Amino acid sequence: MASPQHVLIIGGGLGGPALAIALARRNIRSSIYELRSEPGDIGGALMLPPNALRVLDKVVGVYESVRSSGYVLQRVTAYASDGMKLGEVGLGEEKEDGYPAVRIRRPTLHKVLLEECARHGVTIQYGKKLERIEETDDGVTAFLVDGTSATGDILVGADGIHSKVREHVLGPAAPTATYSGLCGIGGTLPQSQIRTPPGYHFPAFIYTSAGMLMAMLVDPEGQTIGWASQETIPDKGREGWEEYQRTGQAARAAKKTYQAVTHEPIRSIMDGIVDDQVNLWAPYELPDLPTWHTNRGSAQAFEDAGYLARLLESHDAVAKGYDKVFARFEKVRKDRFQHVRDITAASGSTRRGSGPGLAWTFRKWATKAYFWFKGGVLRDTRITGYDVQEEDIGVES
Ligand SMILES: Cc1cc2nc3c(=O)[nH]c(=O)nc-3n(C[C@H](O)[C@H](O)[C@H](O)COP(=O)(O)OP(=O)(O)OC[C@H]3O[C@@H](n4cnc5c(N)ncnc54)[C@H](O)[C@@H]3O)c2cc1C
Repeated sequence: MASPQHVLIIGGGLGGPALAIALARRNIRSSIYELRSEPGDIGGALMLPPNALRVLDKVVGVYESVRSSGYVLQRVTAYASDGMKLGEVGLGEEKEDGYPAVRIRRPTLHKVLLEECARHGVTIQYGKKLERIEETDDGVTAFLVDGTSATGDILVGADGIHSKVREHVLGPAAPTATYSGLCGIGGTLPQSQIRTPPGYHFPAFIYTSAGMLMAMLVDPEGQTIGWASQETIPDKGREGWEEYQRTGQAARAAKKTYQAVTHEPIRSIMDGIVDDQVNLWAPYELPDLPTWHTNRGSAQAFEDAGYLARLLESHDAVAKGYDKVFARFEKVRKDRFQHVRDITAASGSTRRGSGPGLAWTFRKWATKAYFWFKGGVLRDTRITGYDVQEEDIGVES
């Protein structure tokens, strides 16, 4: 069996277009169906570590555009709110990992991917919400809510956390995504507006008694600070979150969290927030799935896209049948995802506040001691060193 002639991709977020480009580079045609009426300018900033950039370079071929559209960094300095340096967090060491890390606004990254799709002649159809899927011996048909349909050899669900494709695959066993409880709130400010203590370096993770404030750089020149904070807020539902953001409640929640911090640069970042100009991202989570998995975060979505494109390009793999191809995909990606999830789960707790007084004093010095114990730099090559190109694509008969 040859590689598929036409792949249907549901979802034109980040993973869908990345997969489409990777397939086009391997002469496999695909079409993307996206429920939104247009790409839009929604979302905050994302961190692309070396493992994501490696796929974007070797498999998708957009590394240079991504690198020049975001802020290139290797390390983030960790500070306590009073300005005490705690240590550094290594996100990508260009010499050792082969790539640095890039902090980039999601809409900017999305635009880079969409432009590359256009260059490869990939069609993205907007206003196309998947309703149901029918599989036959010859292929698969996607029926869309607007009454149209599309047929291909295979269909890939890149339709995010509330995936309709997942519902089709798992049937009644499909779990519902639940809100994680921690909402990300953030925005941007010109760096010139921020009062920076002497010797202070951005990008910075600023630990406070109320939680951790990220002050990252998001533009290629490093002139714009993208601040972000995680707040414990009960679920508000889709419309509720939109209202929470639009009416400035999200901005006020972040300001309230850091109201007791009198030190710079937090004070001038908070003072500079324009209430109706913040982004909000309420992440949802899924439990482990009985079959097939999901991705979490853009780096995992890109790794998925890279590995799937490699499998579909391989005539040997496809000759064994799509069931075998997808079983292999599931096995490799599930192992990797669970590994990443276990490693990152531990870091989430450090972003939550300790509370003021002695609890904070203890947290601050314990964090400083931990950095010291680790040689001043925290770094985890188990995540950043991963190369999807090195995964075996052997498919068992
Ligand atoms: C608008 C938006 C803003 C985001 N902002 C942030 C952020 O600030 N910070 C952060 O860390 N992560 C953010 N994310 C999440 C991050 O982009 C994803 O975790 C990551 O990109 C995973 O990629 P994905 O392609 O699997 O999913 P996504 O990038 O979420 O894309 C899924 C796409 O599928 C489409 N879709 C869903 N259902 C259907 C359907 N039935 N039919 C057709 N299309 C469908 C969606 O409209 C969406 O465009 C955002 C996602 C979105 C959609």
